[in-house]
Amino acid sequence: MATPEIGKAYKRVVSPHNPPLRVIVVGAGLGGCAAAIALHHHGHEVVAVLDKVRAFNRLGDSLGLGENAYRLLSRWGCNVKEVQDIGNQSPTMKIRRWHDGKILAEQPLIDMAGYIGHRGDYHDIFLKWVGERGIPIRMGCEVVAYSDADPVPSLTLASGETLTADAIVACDGIKSLARHLVLGARDDPVSSGYACFRAYFEPSAEMIADPARNAFLKEDNVNFWIGPDTHVVQNTLRGGREFNWILTHKDDGDVPESWFQPGDMEEVRRLVANIDPDIREAIRSTDKCLDWKICYRKPLPTWVSPESHRIVLLGDSCHAHLPTSAQGASQACESAGTLAVCLGLVGRDDVKIATRAYEKLRFPRTRVSQTHGEDLRDRWHNVLKNVDEDIEIDPEMVKIKVSSLPPR
Ligand SMILES: Cc1cc2nc3c(=O)[nH]c(=O)nc-3n(C[C@H](O)[C@H](O)[C@H](O)COP(=O)(O)OP(=O)(O)OC[C@H]3O[C@@H](n4cnc5c(N)ncnc54)[C@H](O)[C@@H]3O)c2cc1C
Repeated sequence: MATPEIGKAYKRVVSPHNPPLRVIVVGAGLGGCAAAIALHHHGHEVVAVLDKVRAFNRLGDSLGLGENAYRLLSRWGCNVKEVQDIGNQSPTMKIRRWHDGKILAEQPLIDMAGYIGHRGDYHDIFLKWVGERGIPIRMGCEVVAYSDADPVPSLTLASGETLTADAIVACDGIKSLARHLVLGARDDPVSSGYACFRAYFEPSAEMIADPARNAFLKEDNVNFWIGPDTHVVQNTLRGGREFNWILTHKDDGDVPESWFQPGDMEEVRRLVANIDPDIREAIRSTDKCLDWKICYRKPLPTWVSPESHRIVLLGDSCHAHLPTSAQGASQACESAGTLAVCLGLVGRDDVKIATRAYEKLRFPRTRVSQTHGEDLRDRWHNVLKNVDEDIEIDPEMVKIKVSSLPPR
């Protein structure tokens, strides 16, 4: 059901199934939206995208969308210029020494580390793309139970309504309910040993006028300060009118796994006491921040339900990434494309072969991109340990590495 907004040149793939496979997507985050768009593109019928919240707010802060995601979204008929235009416009990012801001490496803001934008702004556009395709998004629909019956799996909403489909794609995030069904047990988060303090705000007129705080407000930019066991990411959005800093630090406390836990600014001020003076006061003068414990899950033994093999996990529900991977949303797009293609390659009775092929194809790829995040964090946190001031660091030691991109 391509509408004029999608563009005249866009061609949706004709479903190999008659009638098309009916698929339900649980979760309308970036992963769920990408899944809906990819499934639609490949000719499947997305019966509905369900989300438990009644409305979406502009939550989170900066999020990277890599070139791998852009290529797929373009292929699916999305006008990616819409997300590029609202993202950070800096051509490069600078990786700096913690205490004095000396630039250790500079690299283009493309490829896997991608275009940085506000998660909420990107999400608005993804939701719009889903809507343009006539795919129903049902808000306030919390899935409270799954039935893994073969060949017709189902889910139950909090309202008591039951829905069935040929396949159910659970993009229900890091605290996924579907993951319990798939694993047959609850899996607890594992602490990464780090947490982030994060703040996102519109700088005040006083801050913009204050030379001690405005060094990075003049235009869009992306900077990283790396030091022993810590790093700060700072970027602007909207030409410097919005400001984001994220301080990653050793986590020896017990901050709960939450996107909304308030942070302790006194602790932040202590942690940045000796950072580059050009950024120090901009951080220290911030009035509030969030404290995100960086948790991850051990790689899951399976992403597919045990009985029908027709309920599958996608996105953070099965392959959450560390912030230093900058690939959470982009890998969700890759998974969406792979699943949609696999479902088009099998007969109606062989959906289980498609879901298992999806899992086998995607697991190694996401492991590589997850471990890149660990590798980068460890390189940043260790490279300056026991190194004299005057020793030059090889820029390659601190650059974000580009994973191989899918073909155009
Ligand atoms: C509030 C929030 C803020 C974030 N901020 C950032 C950020 O600043 N930077 C960054 O890089 N990443 C951030 N992320 C993570 C990033 O969005 C994801 O890594 C990426 O977009 C892939 O996410 P996803 O769609 O798989 O999961 P999510 O984005 O977590 O989306 C899951 C969706 O499923 C819905 N859901 C969950 N359970 C149910 C259920 N039982 N029934 C129905 N619906 C359900 C949720 O309401 C949610 O909309 C944030 C995630 C969240 C939820």
